[in-house]
Parts: sequence; structure tokens; C-alpha cells
Amino acid sequence: MNPFPLILSAPSGGGKTTIARKLLEQRSDVGYSISCTTRPPRAGEVTGRDYFFITPEEFRARRDRGEFAESAEVHGHWYGTLRSEIGRVLAEGKHVIMDIDVQGAAQLGSAFPHAVRVFVLPPSADELLKRLRARKTEDRGSLARRMMTALEEVRHAEEYQYVVVNDDLGRAVARVSAVIDAETSRRERVHDLEAQVRSLIERLEREIGA
Ligand code: ADP
Ligand code: 5GP
Repeated sequence: MNPFPLILSAPSGGGKTTIARKLLEQRSDVGYSISCTTRPPRAGEVTGRDYFFITPEEFRARRDRGEFAESAEVHGHWYGTLRSEIGRVLAEGKHVIMDIDVQGAAQLGSAFPHAVRVFVLPPSADELLKRLRARKTEDRGSLARRMMTALEEVRHAEEYQYVVVNDDLGRAVARVSAVIDAETSRRERVHDLEAQVRSLIERLEREIGA
């Protein structure tokens, strides 16, 4: 198998974290790239599992050392993908799921042209608001800021190769899973295709005595 990065983006509350978690439960051929962030942890979030929660000073130092494959400021906090995380998951022979915003996805697109970009859309604006409010992780100011950014982010959906509507969770996960399967079979990704075809032809030629 030829593992590849799978970039999942969505407006805040769109469901990308939930979809990523389900994919990790259901498939043994995917791993998760844990990002660094300067955002404080939410209740229940654990450093080294959800994110590496670090100070702005440490973030700057690590960025200056070139540790990030991409980084961006989102909703007033810094987020970055560690090169070491991408390497860790790829070394396990797994596709790397990355939950990153549209700015980071654009940066990674040029560094990893073989990455697959999937944009997760909420079924409606009302449903997005409902889910964000129900998650109860944001205060009023933060919620308003996330909604402003959501508008901007949705405009970038056309830069993605795939768009998945997250109406029913099970169906949305199945759609992203289908994207992974289809992309795995892409001709460009099939390992050593030429040699495989050559060996097939040689075997057939021997059989018919050509
Ligand atoms: P994101 O990571 O994109 O900000 P989350 O994965 O945290 O979004 O999802 C936002 C909220 O919506 C969470 O409380 C999650 O449980 C809920 N949620 C996600 N997908 C669905 C769905 N298909 N149906 C109902 N609720 C959902
Ligand atoms: P949250 O604070 O809700 O976990 O994430 C806020 C936003 O930051 C989301 O759009 C999420 O995709 C994005 N994000 C998370 N990790 C990274 C990262 O490593 N890089 C970038 N560019 N964005 C990230």
C-alpha cells in the first residue's frame, strides 16, 4: 500500500473531529496526526491525544526550528502540523488523517501534492449552529468568532477534491471511507504498476508459448 495524507477540513462544528475519530475506530489502515496548538484544552481533551497543548513561546520556537509542515492562526490561536507526526504515521504504513483549517490545507497542498483533500459540509447553517451550541465548548464571543470564520471557510470548499455532507454521521463516515478506498486504487498510487503488468504479460506469454 502507498499511504497518503488525508486532509479533513470543515467549518467549526462541521463534524471533522467526530468523523476522524470514527474512521480511526473503524479502519486499521489510518492514523491521526496530532497537531500542536496554543488554544487551551477543552474539558476532556488530553495533551498527546487530541492536541499537543503548548504555549505561544514554545509554538514560535518550534516554528522557527522548522518543525511544522504548515501552521496557521485560527480563531485567535495558533495551530500547526508537526513534520514528525506525518512521518510517524506514514512510517506505520497508514494513511495520515489531518484535521486542519483551509489555510493549512492550502500550505500542505503544495508540500504534499499527493494529499487528498476532503471538505466536510454541515447539512444546513441552522444545524451547524445547533451542533456548535450543543457541544457547549465555546462562550458567546468564541461562538460568534467561529461563525464568522465558518462563512469564510465554506467559500474555500471548491479548493477540495471531495465534499462530504455530514447529515447522518454513519453515512458521512462511510463516504469519507469510500474516498480513502477509491484513492488507494488510483493508478498513480498502485505500487510498481509497470512491473506488475510486465510480469503478468510474461506469464501469459509463457503459457501460450509466444
Ligand atoms: P469540528 O471538529 O468540525 O469542529 P465536531 O466533530 O466537534 O466538529 O462536531 C461538532 C458537534 O456536532 C459535536 O458535538 C458532535 O458530536 C456533533 N456532530 C458531529 N456530526 C454530527 C452528526 N452527523 N449528527 C449530529 N451531531 C453531530
Ligand atoms: P478546534 O479549536 O475547534 O479544535 O480547531 C479549530 C480549527 O483549527 C479547526 O478548523 C481545525 O481544523 C484547525 N486545526 C486543527 N489543527 C490544525 C493544524 O495543525 N493546522 C491548521 N492549519 N489548522 C488546524
